[in-house]
Amino acid sequence: MSTQIYRLIDTHAHLDEVEDLDQAIEEAKQVGLVAVIAVGQDYESNSKIMEFSEKYKDFVYPALGLHPWSLGNMDAAKVELTLQFIVDNIEKAVGIGEIGLDYDKRVVAAADKERQKEAFKAVLELARRYDKPVSVHARYSWKDSFDLVKESGVKRAVFHWYTGFSSVLREIIAERYFISATPATEYHDEHRRAVRETPLENLLLETDCPVTYGREIKYQSRPSDVIRTLRAVAQLRGMAEETIANKTTENALRFFGLTGKVKRA
Ligand SMILES: [Zn+2]
Repeated sequence: MSTQIYRLIDTHAHLDEVEDLDQAIEEAKQVGLVAVIAVGQDYESNSKIMEFSEKYKDFVYPALGLHPWSLGNMDAAKVELTLQFIVDNIEKAVGIGEIGLDYDKRVVAAADKERQKEAFKAVLELARRYDKPVSVHARYSWKDSFDLVKESGVKRAVFHWYTGFSSVLREIIAERYFISATPATEYHDEHRRAVRETPLENLLLETDCPVTYGREIKYQSRPSDVIRTLRAVAQLRGMAEETIANKTTENALRFFGLTGKVKRA
């Protein structure tokens, strides 16, 4: 196993759900991470993420979101409050996310497709207006999610943990949007195919922590597990870890407008 330390960025982490966050941040720094993009999903998590970005200044960067999973528990007033919070904190946010559409039937039962689309369009409009990149959740909704992002006029978008059709992936790449790889690159067939078919120019690394990964041996992820993502991508692509690390970190810095702000290794 390599002992080389690479400059890495976890571009999609739910830090409000990570246990022992102080320690998780310390571990992340020790293994070479230079930044973590903390994504929010509702008013409460967005508020926490803003606090973390102050507490772990110049390491944790906030992306403020409105997740389709959260919509089921929100009335119209709560949606408004969440959108207003995003606007009020937009100067400090490096992105808007996690946002998107989820067509899993349990999610649709809680918030139907029209309601999801309405909320997604509202946050995309904020991203366009304030020129922020978006982190998109697109489970079973790959084509609709892509179409709405493209129609919104948003210039920078990452389809996080992409597992969708190759045809939509080609459209994502043609628009110079991104996909991000998670530790599921080790074993998940659809995700592996997408990671293989995406040029390095369009690829970011992430963990989506604290998601539980693994087939035989399961583990709850932390930001430091972006190293597992790196190793899996390198192995899958038959390329040096260093090449993948350098390129995807450079991509992430440009994508989130952090070039020059994040410390050198
Ligand atoms: Zn997520």
